[in-house]
Amino acid sequence: MKTPPADKTESPGPSNFIKNIIDEDLKNNKNGGRVNTRFPPEPNGYLHIGHAKSICLNFGIAAEYQGLCNLRFDDTNPNKEEEEYVNSIMEDVRWLGFDWGDRLYYASDYFEQLYQWAVRLIKEGKAYVDSLSAEEIRKHRGTLTQPGKDSPFRNRSREENLNLFERMRAGEFEDGTHVLRAKIDMTSPNVNMRDPVMYRILHATHHRTGDKWCIYPMYDFTHGQSDSLEGITHSICTLEFEDHRPLYDWYIDALAIHHPRQIEFARLNLTYTVMSKRKLLQLVQEKYVSGWDDPRMPTIAGLRRRGYTPEAIRVFCERIGVAKSNSIVDIALLEYCLRENLNLRSPRVMVVLRPLRVIITNYPESQVEQMEAINNPEDLSTGSRTVPFSRALYIEQDDFREDPPKKFFRLAPGQEVRLRYAYIIKCENVIKDDKTGEIIEIHCTYDPETKSGSPQSSRMVKGTIHWVSAAHAIEAEVRLYDRLFVKPNPDDAKDSSDFRDHVNPKSLETLTSCRIEPSLADAVPGSRYQFERLGYFCVDSVDSAPGKLVFNRTVSLRDTWAKIEKAQGK
Ligand code: ATP
Ligand code: MG
Repeated sequence: MKTPPADKTESPGPSNFIKNIIDEDLKNNKNGGRVNTRFPPEPNGYLHIGHAKSICLNFGIAAEYQGLCNLRFDDTNPNKEEEEYVNSIMEDVRWLGFDWGDRLYYASDYFEQLYQWAVRLIKEGKAYVDSLSAEEIRKHRGTLTQPGKDSPFRNRSREENLNLFERMRAGEFEDGTHVLRAKIDMTSPNVNMRDPVMYRILHATHHRTGDKWCIYPMYDFTHGQSDSLEGITHSICTLEFEDHRPLYDWYIDALAIHHPRQIEFARLNLTYTVMSKRKLLQLVQEKYVSGWDDPRMPTIAGLRRRGYTPEAIRVFCERIGVAKSNSIVDIALLEYCLRENLNLRSPRVMVVLRPLRVIITNYPESQVEQMEAINNPEDLSTGSRTVPFSRALYIEQDDFREDPPKKFFRLAPGQEVRLRYAYIIKCENVIKDDKTGEIIEIHCTYDPETKSGSPQSSRMVKGTIHWVSAAHAIEAEVRLYDRLFVKPNPDDAKDSSDFRDHVNPKSLETLTSCRIEPSLADAVPGSRYQFERLGYFCVDSVDSAPGKLVFNRTVSLRDTWAKIEKAQGK
């Protein structure tokens, strides 16, 4: 595989328990010194930030050990899987900066092999066809405290089992009439070992195998063998599979095939969001969001559209590390990683979100000056640009107060403020609508001696605000996003509420008459900027069109994570 694009903030990650295990295996020359991991998504939804953790871990480890990482679609469930998901998953993994080379696999490619293996287990007396209903199977399974009971069909002869299983494949039976089960131990303390189902009848069309099959292997009968077939050395998965490991081991030992080593780690949970694909699908289907790529979604597609960079996500995944116990990561840490990255790379521009008209009464009517503005103080190699200054400007409504509180260092009657890259102005008059009393415009004077950068500009005022020239500015739509949920843990099962009860009704605010500086006229979809004093924004890649610019606020400038760390005494 290719290593991700070089980035200043990235280096081989710190040690963790997974790497310690791999080091140990390499020392003992297990697998002939090979390291081969895989990322195995089920194509039943879009990838989310939790998957990003798994992707960074699997591809990252492969890169660090000069090994390989496969991409494999675990597509055993024909009912929930779609081509759209397959394509989005590939796009997202690539966008994150990883490459599976020629190692793209599908569990469905192994259906014939899995079938043959099932036949083998039947012949060896290790599997049987059960004709109990799903409900009866559940009743026989027992509970965590009570052992299960054998099915009356458990001791069918091999011949009868083989015959029934063949007929299951041939399509002779209706859905749910028979299943193939492993013959292990109905009294095992591990419920997964109580004769788990290996195959079920499903007359459903599969996105890749079409109608070739009407029996489908269960995930647990597929996953371990798929890893084995691909020669995976370290099968890294999330903690909920710990209890399934004995079963994967049982299948692999029974079949006497290559034995990958399964290592479990804690899945990523983030505050103010949900991470289960089922719940994300509900948000999409029930129109809480505009789609899987809605910029409020924790999906990779949503984060990308929101303006996240792959580097920021990779750095985040590195910083949270891998652990053995589940925890919830503060979303502020993700935003911190994002700001850190955007700060270095985003050109600064001036944009007024909620325009208030300002007339500089002593500025010549037809004059336009080109003011020099620095593109990125963090990266002076990006140079500067000019922004036009004229008699009629827009400033932020928030930057003017008719009745200012103490320490309001922006514009107020009789008060001075510096216009960034331009002059000091003074508010002389407030013009209001006679009937409504609403402020229409502010009349100011400017001090020609205070031009930014000129030798006479030494005069100081406390505040500096951004602005755009009214005649030159371009109108744009800006979408301000807030957290999708109002509760830090919307999934909290402790109360009886549903996660949808906690959706933030104010998670999107759309501003339609924003004014942006003219240098952004040709901004391309996906490009990212810092709007001075306002935050990081990017051009929406879906709703922008020539002549119609739509921006998404990626993240505000305010850094809550630094505050949290400070409070924690770090
Ligand atoms: P979900 O619960 O969101 O539906 P899943 O585990 O069913 O997720 P898969 O498509 O099976 O989704 O996941 C592919 C890989 O990503 C698996 O190896 C899984 O362990 C890992 N993964 C999924 N969610 C997370 C998470 N929140 N943190 C870390 N890894 C995850
Ligand atoms: Mg899964």
